[in-house]
Amino acid sequence: MDMQTSFLDRLFDSGLLIETGVDGLYGRSGQFEDVIAAFERLIDRFGGADGAEAIRFPPGMNRAFFEKSGYMKSFPQLAGTVHSFCGSELDHMSLLKCMEIGDDSWAKGQEATDIVLTPAACYPLYPTVAKRGPLPAGGVLYDLQSYCFRHEPSKDPARQQLFRMREYVCMGTQENVTDFRQSWMDRGVQLMAEVELPVEIDVANDPFFGRAGKMLANNQRDQNLKFELLIPITSTANPTACMSFNYHQDAFGTKWGLELEDGSVAHTACVGFGLERIALALFHHHGLDVALWPAKVRKALWG
Ligand code: AMP
Ligand code: ZN
Repeated sequence: MDMQTSFLDRLFDSGLLIETGVDGLYGRSGQFEDVIAAFERLIDRFGGADGAEAIRFPPGMNRAFFEKSGYMKSFPQLAGTVHSFCGSELDHMSLLKCMEIGDDSWAKGQEATDIVLTPAACYPLYPTVAKRGPLPAGGVLYDLQSYCFRHEPSKDPARQQLFRMREYVCMGTQENVTDFRQSWMDRGVQLMAEVELPVEIDVANDPFFGRAGKMLANNQRDQNLKFELLIPITSTANPTACMSFNYHQDAFGTKWGLELEDGSVAHTACVGFGLERIALALFHHHGLDVALWPAKVRKALWG
């Protein structure tokens, strides 16, 4: 059995994660949630004084905004859309017949609703902020958290289909947002040191789709637009990205019409914490019983 499956089985056996029959879709125990809540309080201790505006969007976003975002150009393989039955009574009858005989095609008649599953916590933010008008001098900062969907079923417990991302997003001048990103790269290392997790930071790229996507990925790496904070969870050779630090240049500013007071296009950057991954890293390194975690780690999390 490989390391991923055996860790997943141990998580199921301990009750920390609860099987649903779908790879990457799990229930979480109260204990698992308590670790995430404690870790989020630790994040607040590092970022709380920055004055970010907190916003919580539900895990679905406006389909029109999703379409405009260009997500389907870059990551069609990961997207999830919400479809519903919109038919007549006759359609309903044939749907039930299909289901009765176990015919999967019942779902083909479902129609796209106005809602798409949120692919990253910051996606609903840009159009929201754009509507508010020009950004104040010095830029703006937001604190987000959302369940996100990515269609990437896996036996690796650190690769889920529905997982939470906590994000800070900065919009302003190039200097504002690159300073913001650098400060969170430093804080990320300090934060993980407080909970005694071994980290490395490396340049990274997103999994852009297809042959054209290879060029986008190379370009992203060459320009150092994405860094990740990696922690070994199910492999030491391939540690898992538990945080990412993304500089979008003026791409989102241009797309959404985000402007500075002087009319120039805003730059944006976001820093994301993979909350389930961080909890799993803690369970992997310190054991499945939180009562036995090192005193320093327990103090950092629960005071
Ligand atoms: P990304 O937008 O891909 O940089 O994702 C932000 C953060 O979310 C990553 O650094 C991970 O910690 C986390 N993440 C991304 N994909 C997954 C997944 N499939 N399962 C769990 N966490 C994820
Ligand atoms: Zn983001």
